[in-house]
Amino acid sequence: MISSNKQPIYLDNAATTRCDPRVVEAMLPYFSERFGNAGSRNHQFGWEAEDGIEIAREQAAKLIGAQSKEVIFTSGSTESNNLAIKGAAEIYARAAAGQMGRGHIVTAAHEHKAVLDPVRRLMREGFEATFIQPPADGVITAEMVAAALRPDTILVSIMWVNNELGTINEVPQIGRLCHEREVIFHTDATQWVGKMPTNVETDQIDLLSWSGHKIYGPKGVGALYVRRRKPRVRLEALQDGGGQERGMRSGTQNVSGIVGFGKACELCAESMDAEGARLLAMRTRLESELVKRIEVTVVNGHATKRVPNIANISFGFVEGESLMMGVREIACSSGSACTSASLEPSYVLKSLGIGDDLAHSSLRLSLGRWTTEADVDAAIEMIENAVNHLRRLSPLYDLHKEGIDLSKIVWQSH
Ligand SMILES: *Cc1c(COP(=O)(O)O)cnc(C)c1O
Repeated sequence: MISSNKQPIYLDNAATTRCDPRVVEAMLPYFSERFGNAGSRNHQFGWEAEDGIEIAREQAAKLIGAQSKEVIFTSGSTESNNLAIKGAAEIYARAAAGQMGRGHIVTAAHEHKAVLDPVRRLMREGFEATFIQPPADGVITAEMVAAALRPDTILVSIMWVNNELGTINEVPQIGRLCHEREVIFHTDATQWVGKMPTNVETDQIDLLSWSGHKIYGPKGVGALYVRRRKPRVRLEALQDGGGQERGMRSGTQNVSGIVGFGKACELCAESMDAEGARLLAMRTRLESELVKRIEVTVVNGHATKRVPNIANISFGFVEGESLMMGVREIACSSGSACTSASLEPSYVLKSLGIGDDLAHSSLRLSLGRWTTEADVDAAIEMIENAVNHLRRLSPLYDLHKEGIDLSKIVWQSH
């Protein structure tokens, strides 16, 4: 018999998650019987679609402690971040342009590209920005943000959880600081919401982005929370047209996607506590076993200020590409980003001061709702075998074992 194609073990839930079957089930009628355009105000098909969207808006709002009117549906976190950052910058730009520039934005060097690139575009349009350098543990504190604030700061954008490291920034404290200083605060909460309890009131957030496909919902749908009171946050729309989503996001709504997003939010709210405990136990086992079994192994990012599902681990004396080849039965991410021809170490790991070698030879293993203990055990075995195999071929590892300090060697070329 021909053996079936065995699927790799999926440990890449920070990249995307498998849709929950209950989400798919909730979506299906909106492709068929309830296919209406939510903007059609004159007939039942339109009303049904609108009802579906409004239920989803309540489910989404409930997950983050917001009012449903404060939730704007988008195509995902990339769009939510763009709308929050560019939309706020346009409105809050210093009216007296010239003298002092258009305004100053504070963010961090290890944010997602979907925050860094909008900020960089604003810089080309006359805004100034500070990119806070993270410390070695990757955690951005309120003190760091306070030190970066200027009299002309109009916006702070600090992600809640770093997607490569899983590290948790001091979001409620940063929120309080921003409110005291009357600066708008945006957080890219893509890796936080749905996994950890969120309340935009007590956490003092003005703008918050999250995405369906990171929380067992569909791809191509997400939301932006926009605070309506204390303060009432205003945004310039990026896209003009039919005026959907309170004018902030024109375009016929993705009804089935939004319904699925709402259902995904509801399911996360129900299962968050139990799931978090289960994931933490599995991740702790994954990390401690790998560190115990394989020497010169480092867990990157803060030891405890991390979400329960993400581990980022570097293995000394192995080469990044060979490591990825060695663990190809595990679907995960590496600290090497293949950018066209070159192999660049992750800018996130580099920003923590991790050397190129250890950044290249790192794996991001992210667990999720469908991860089993058997998956974790198998992954531990596979990684141990792969690293041991590669080290047997490594002359540098031999030198290390002989007790030679490699950092003291002067390499000569002939
Ligand atoms: C995945 C991710 C994004 C991008 O979200 P999309 O919905 O895919 O656009 C942005 N920020 C963070 C932190 C992410 O993890």
